[in-house]
Amino acid sequence: MPSTRLANLIDGRLQAPLDDRWLDVHEPATGAVFAQCPDSSAADVDAAVHAAQKAAPGWAATPVEERARLLHRLADLIEARLDEFAELESRDSGKPVALAKRLDIPRAVSNLRFFASAVVGWESESHAMETGAINYTLRRPLGVVGCISPWNLPLYLFTWKIAPALASGNAVIAKPSEVTPCTAALLGALSIEAGFPPGVLNIVQGRGAGTGQAIVEHPAIKAVSFTGSTRTGASIAATAAPQFKKLSLELGGKNPAIVFADAELTDEHLDTIVRSGFANQGEICLCGSRLLVQRSIYDQFRERYLAKVKALRVGDPQDASSDLGAMVSSEHFDKVMRCIAQAREEGGQILCGGDAVKLNGRCTDGWFIAPTVVESLSNDTQTNQQEIFGPVVTLIPFDDEAEAIALANGTGYGLAASLWTRDLSRAHRMGAHLEFGIVWINCWLLRDLRTPFGGSKQSGIGREGGGEALRFFTEPRNICIRY
Ligand code: NAD
Repeated sequence: MPSTRLANLIDGRLQAPLDDRWLDVHEPATGAVFAQCPDSSAADVDAAVHAAQKAAPGWAATPVEERARLLHRLADLIEARLDEFAELESRDSGKPVALAKRLDIPRAVSNLRFFASAVVGWESESHAMETGAINYTLRRPLGVVGCISPWNLPLYLFTWKIAPALASGNAVIAKPSEVTPCTAALLGALSIEAGFPPGVLNIVQGRGAGTGQAIVEHPAIKAVSFTGSTRTGASIAATAAPQFKKLSLELGGKNPAIVFADAELTDEHLDTIVRSGFANQGEICLCGSRLLVQRSIYDQFRERYLAKVKALRVGDPQDASSDLGAMVSSEHFDKVMRCIAQAREEGGQILCGGDAVKLNGRCTDGWFIAPTVVESLSNDTQTNQQEIFGPVVTLIPFDDEAEAIALANGTGYGLAASLWTRDLSRAHRMGAHLEFGIVWINCWLLRDLRTPFGGSKQSGIGREGGGEALRFFTEPRNICIRY
């Protein structure tokens, strides 16, 4: 049995699951089990909900400045242990530790700070009537809410949900992915030190089909904010609908990156285009996995692009010089390898990568895949329609703007697109026609936390970020006064 057993946080106390059932947690770089996480049952969820119900009225009545102070305090505690969090995140998920230090953990800190400040500055609406009445909108917390997050950006997405839920006065039942449970468990322990009242934040670890399902089904949980796969999102929607729960669903993507002949392709821009495909081993919902390139520059672009992709170093995530680490699990490794085999079967030409990477030393049994670029596949192939969520990018040529829009919009997803052009009119025109929740122009993953974040079509419903998240976690009440 590994020495580290993670705990649930219920009613302000770290607890083992009631049934004493545990799940192994693997280190993707080595394949070895290094911890166990609770495999919580519906009874654990129920205990957390009882604690949250007890805590919710007091938390809702707590002045907003005090709620903000506690969120800032939690952010301080995480920031003080940034290196430890980054190392744990890397060990748990396989991502390069340098990425966790630069992106995941600082962003988790920012999420807590951002919503702490946002809620203090939040304004309510009022509508005056000329006939002698005034309306104002009260926004009340929902009570007890559920937050369910995935494995690809574990602490980053966990805090992206719990921060607005707590800031707006709700008691929370949160579940990180069972694949990457470690940093949320550490955050839970620090939330006690930060001074959150017992029951305000509860973290129940476990499998999706068990613990997650119990959260979605629980009648006392008024809303569920979920980030994960489209398939799970559909199942959650079906379960929650008969109870009329509020739902925010942030799901998968098959995002295009579109490069026009007039784009300014400096080395730095090309690096960003490469990063948009391969950052975090391609395991970011916003990664551009279909690279559409205008035909007049296709050959020349492909050469420069491939040179950069081939230079990416797949290595031990603990090594500061690794650009790509390991795939998160053996199941996901197998899935991505199957997708590469399918790309070959569909007639795709593998321009680089296409294989697993065997490393030496402690990483011999790790789940590594070489950055893979494929061409000669039409947009309607499975490879170009299905989310792979790995280090696989397809190159697709196009002739003009109309074709680029048709190809970009031609999948079931609508999360994010990026566009590279120097033509400002084209940028605005395309921005209006691309059916995605986010369109980046001459950049990628440039995030302002005040902006609406989310996707359309099979990429989900609802938006997170800024006022959108605070609105999601509150119920508006119109008060009309006649004078
Ligand atoms: P997943 O859907 O398998 O799991 C996500 C979470 O849901 C986990 O905590 C899991 O335990 C839980 N879960 C699974 N089944 C459940 C059920 N029936 N009821 C309740 N909870 C359940 O997704 P994943 O494999 O962890 O994450 C990868 C997916 O997440 C990709 O599709 C990716 O695109 C998507 N994603 C989307 C965004 C976004 O913002 N749109 C961000 C990150 C990841």
